Amino acid sequence: MEQYDKGLLPTITREQDFCFDCVQCGECCRNREDILLNPLDVFRLCRKLKLSAEEFIDKYGELYMGYSSKMPVLRMAYRTKYGVNGISEGTRCPFLGSKDGLFYCRVHDSKPFVCRSFPLGRVRKNMEEEQYILQVDGTCKGRAQAERQQVYQNVEAWMGGKEKVDLQEQYSAIFDELMHDIRGWINLDKLADYQGGNSAEYASWFALVSFLMYGNYDFEKSDEEMLQENVHGIQKVCEETVKMCNGRIDLRPRK
Ligand code: SF4
Ligand code: SF4
Repeated sequence: MEQYDKGLLPTITREQDFCFDCVQCGECCRNREDILLNPLDVFRLCRKLKLSAEEFIDKYGELYMGYSSKMPVLRMAYRTKYGVNGISEGTRCPFLGSKDGLFYCRVHDSKPFVCRSFPLGRVRKNMEEEQYILQVDGTCKGRAQAERQQVYQNVEAWMGGKEKVDLQEQYSAIFDELMHDIRGWINLDKLADYQGGNSAEYASWFALVSFLMYGNYDFEKSDEEMLQENVHGIQKVCEETVKMCNGRIDLRPRK
């Protein structure tokens, strides 16, 4: 992000092509802590694995407080792989499979957006139109391979086609708006810091909002309808928390 902010990374739109060819080395699925899951990812993975959201989060997720947002963040819980001598060989995603020396994703058609878009990263500054950046580091051999053989991919096709990208962008917009609006509903920094970060008030807010963000699904409803309903629920939880804490902590949002 720092390089992007300095204008060092060129942006690509979803209609453009980029030079890349995956060699299935599996490096991007190892030793990471940043496979973040959004509500749509959880919803799709639950459907694929036939698990409830609660079961999925227990088995594959790790929920924590976002360092600056103070919001519940969910990431994929990686597993440690031990060698024959019992020494750790690093971590890997629980869904990484291998066959004949090539690595593949065992939930490919339902994999999280960050995985589907990799090596592209999504940027949406100041609530404007989404753009993408090519974020290839030294561990990924796909760019070098593609440059040698002149292989190009279309951004939209790479991420699963127009319909998937449309839905994802729609979802991201609602999510970005939530992250922006929530500061107008409650003073989250104050709530998170109350009693050194160990208050029952923040714990209860965190549990309710985590459930609404990642766990409250009705498979009969559309993805968008469900997300909008949950966002409305989060607003109510924030407003109720402000009222409930009145007299003890002033949680009214900063003007
Ligand atoms: S690190 Fe790059 S080349 Fe290797 S599997 Fe991931 S995307 Fe493909
Ligand atoms: S979900 Fe699939 S693509 Fe994503 S990190 Fe795991 S194995 Fe890799």
